[in-house]
Amino acid sequence: MNKKYDFLIVGAGLYGSIFAHEAKKAGKTCLIIDKRNHVGGNIYTEKIEDINVHKYGAHIFHTNNKEVWNYVNQFAEFNRYTNSPVANYHGEIYNLPFNMNTFNKMWGVITPAEAKKKIEEQQSANYIENPQNLEEQAINLVGVDIYEKLIKGYTEKQWGRPCNELPAFIIRRLPVRFTYDNNYFNADFQGIPVGGYTSMIERMLEGTEVKLNVNYLKDKEQWDMVADRVVYTGPIDSYFDYKFGVLEYRSVSFETEVLDMENFQGNAVVNYTDRETPYTRIIEHKHFEFGNQPKTVVSREYSVEWELGDEPYYPVNDEKNSALYEKYREAAEAESKVIFGGRLGEYKYYDMDKVIEVALQKVKEVLGK
Ligand code: UDP
Repeated sequence: MNKKYDFLIVGAGLYGSIFAHEAKKAGKTCLIIDKRNHVGGNIYTEKIEDINVHKYGAHIFHTNNKEVWNYVNQFAEFNRYTNSPVANYHGEIYNLPFNMNTFNKMWGVITPAEAKKKIEEQQSANYIENPQNLEEQAINLVGVDIYEKLIKGYTEKQWGRPCNELPAFIIRRLPVRFTYDNNYFNADFQGIPVGGYTSMIERMLEGTEVKLNVNYLKDKEQWDMVADRVVYTGPIDSYFDYKFGVLEYRSVSFETEVLDMENFQGNAVVNYTDRETPYTRIIEHKHFEFGNQPKTVVSREYSVEWELGDEPYYPVNDEKNSALYEKYREAAEAESKVIFGGRLGEYKYYDMDKVIEVALQKVKEVLGK
């Protein structure tokens, strides 16, 4: 432990790995450590039955930023996967996001004009001028039928709270389209790295020293001695021993099984939008890569209340937690030797492309470029 590095990077997820790659390229020495027994953080994929399984939830790379797209393409070849989830409401199947296919199935309408008329009819009775919560916003956007069948149950399972207590902005993440286009994202570039995300991260880390199964916070003083600066990508509140209080998350639990059949559900993502089905969605991993293996692997995804010690997934960026984060951010600024970054280090629900953007920006700034 007495070798001196320029950077000790805590966390071998996307943020830490990009930082390490760029620092090394600039001639700096890095040691990257992780408490898990693998690199990749939550984008880690693992081969089961020759299928890349997204162990910590499905990750679909999408971006409008051409630089970011070119950047990741150095480390992996991306396939042509386009996310087109299907919704299952008590056995009725609808296309997502909300588009002409959805409207046709829901109401039998054929043209965009007919669909708009139908939504207007549904709105006229319920339209709310300034939507204050998710329920009001959703009904304004797509009407009552779609809200009841495709939004209400799913959202309440996902967030563990009624829709009229949730912020309106969550539902504005989803496109509403009057074309027959099932592409879930409005993104110019989209795909899955051929061979999985883990090999992409391994490529980024080529030539960088990695130590796994180590707990930085437990031996913090010793670790801090090995490098001039530290890049910390763990939960920011844990770094400060929760001295202002604990930041909250939503967590997810996965029930993964191998099935002795070639094709279970015919799509990578099926959302269960009724309230009664206990899980929110089923992921069939092989379809992310158009796999034709003889078996298949599926993961049922349950949204769960997070408790300290569970894996954090979704930061709860409500008022209370944002105010608490602000205190930690100020404390972090005073730690001149340490750089806090990534979804946990910054307590932000970043998509992967955004993580890449902020990591590249930060490393540039730190290296004085
Ligand atoms: N949503 C929904 N029905 C669906 C899918 C999504 O009502 O079938 C809502 C839900 O409130 C969710 C939000 O849209 O929280 C955003 O969905 P997104 O797919 O962006 O969530 P993520 O995949 O990031 O969990």
